[in-house]
Amino acid sequence: MGKQEEFVLRALEERDVRFVRLWFTDVLGSLKSVAIAPAELEGAFSEGIGFDGSAIEGFARVYEADMLAKPDPSTFQILPWRGEGPSTARMFCDIVMPDGSPSYADPRFVLKRTLSKAAENGFTFYTHPEIEFYLFKDTPQPGADPVPVDRSGYFDHTAQSSGADFRREAITMLESMGISVEFSHHEGGPGQQEIDLRYADALSTADNIMTFRTVVREVALSQGIWATFMPKPFTTHPGSGMHTHVSLFEGDRNAFFSAGSEYQLSKTGRSFIAGILTHAAEITAVTNQWVNSYKRLIGGGEAPSYICWGHNNRSAMIRVPMYKPNKGQSTRIELRTIDSACNPYLAFAVILAAGMKGIEEGYDLPPEAEDDVWSLNDRERKSLGIDPLPKTLYEAIGIMENSELLAETLGEHVYDFFLRNKRAEWEEYRGQVSAFERDRMLPVI
Ligand code: GLU
Ligand code: MG
Ligand code: MG
Repeated sequence: MGKQEEFVLRALEERDVRFVRLWFTDVLGSLKSVAIAPAELEGAFSEGIGFDGSAIEGFARVYEADMLAKPDPSTFQILPWRGEGPSTARMFCDIVMPDGSPSYADPRFVLKRTLSKAAENGFTFYTHPEIEFYLFKDTPQPGADPVPVDRSGYFDHTAQSSGADFRREAITMLESMGISVEFSHHEGGPGQQEIDLRYADALSTADNIMTFRTVVREVALSQGIWATFMPKPFTTHPGSGMHTHVSLFEGDRNAFFSAGSEYQLSKTGRSFIAGILTHAAEITAVTNQWVNSYKRLIGGGEAPSYICWGHNNRSAMIRVPMYKPNKGQSTRIELRTIDSACNPYLAFAVILAAGMKGIEEGYDLPPEAEDDVWSLNDRERKSLGIDPLPKTLYEAIGIMENSELLAETLGEHVYDFFLRNKRAEWEEYRGQVSAFERDRMLPVI
């Protein structure tokens, strides 16, 4: 047994832990959990805990259903919302097959595999997400419009606001689980919040995002309100994005930084952006995986709809944020397409793979978009070489279907399952008759 495993076993006794939850994530990004007694943990570390993979979205076909969850001791944390008395802890797991090989269906493995490939080229991938979400007064009821907890807007400070109380409690809980928060504020929509996690390596960030969603939901329930990461809950208010700042490090040197270059952006940084832009349409089905995701990407609300980059241009899909002089290590790019309802493991994997492709192939970066791309017309955008992002899930999966990069990055199993599942989601949606159609047509036709 390694040092970390021993540390966890000691912590179980010292902290009076009675339940250990083993967490993992299905292909669509839902958190799964199985609780074991502390006595089972040694076995879980050495062999894993068996479960029926066919019951998990995207994991296995029925005839090859046996899988094992193996806890990663470096992710051990006590769950703070379980209150006083004996405690409950959690660890994220890697999923393995009965022969000990990694499960090809495990999103955490998909990300790890992509990170190792980048590591072979000497790179570590860092991410920093700005997570947006809405708070509603009540549990959602079918057919009823949700009621936001407040009517405030961007950066508003409101006396006795439930949003501020909420953020304080959620952040305290996140910090007690070792997740550092950098900023938080009220976002543009009524009841809409944003909490930004501090920079970390992409695997830790993806784990942290899964924990974040759970903490935010738990805190909301404890305050009698409801939190949602749905990308676009309202027609008339902004959606919830998860803008993600990314950078590559070579050892302890920021590989995107080059003193004296334009925006202090190195050749590596420029090729990385070019990679994401070139493959932007292919990765969108993963970074924006729901029918509803595409209602956020329609232009306006500060969500992107065109494939371009810009320096401090908030209409661009990739923004190179303002750099601070002598702060080379913080050189990074902000990817603004990705939404709060993605599977963070898969989303980070495809972003990294696209960027790495740009570096490997030495893609050239097209000129930056200097205008507000929403205000240009189609002809003007075309003459600047700016293409639109996919406009629907249907269009996005059609493009993903022809993408070698995606098949290779996700692996055959996840790639096939994902496409099948998303096609089914689209087919179900396509047949729905909406209130919009009735309101438009019944009075006149
Ligand atoms: N809510 C906006 C979006 O959906 C982002 C607002 C901002 O932080 O700039 O992407
Ligand atoms: Mg924001
Ligand atoms: Mg942002």
